[in-house]
Amino acid sequence: MAREYERLRPTFPEFCGCETCRDDVMVFALNRVRPRYVTRRRGAVLARVRMERDQELADLSVALVEGFRRVHEAPRPGHDRPPDHSTD
Ligand SMILES: [Zn+2]
Repeated sequence: MAREYERLRPTFPEFCGCETCRDDVMVFALNRVRPRYVTRRRGAVLARVRMERDQELADLSVALVEGFRRVHEAPRPGHDRPPDHSTD
């Protein structure tokens, strides 16, 4: 999961990326994906696990991207933004 985060992080150069925001993205993505994981795995046939994991990874990527957007657009109240370098 953290690896997927690191892989997708550069696609959002404006994203804060501090520990708080990273955790928010991960929690958001996990909450989004986990219920489906549980449902699928319960009745999963062993032979299909590998294929399903590819699908799960894809689902996770989508959820992470959504998380990046949400956290970026609505940072948590009182969250300290890093200094604005846009005028440099
Ligand atoms: Zn942050």
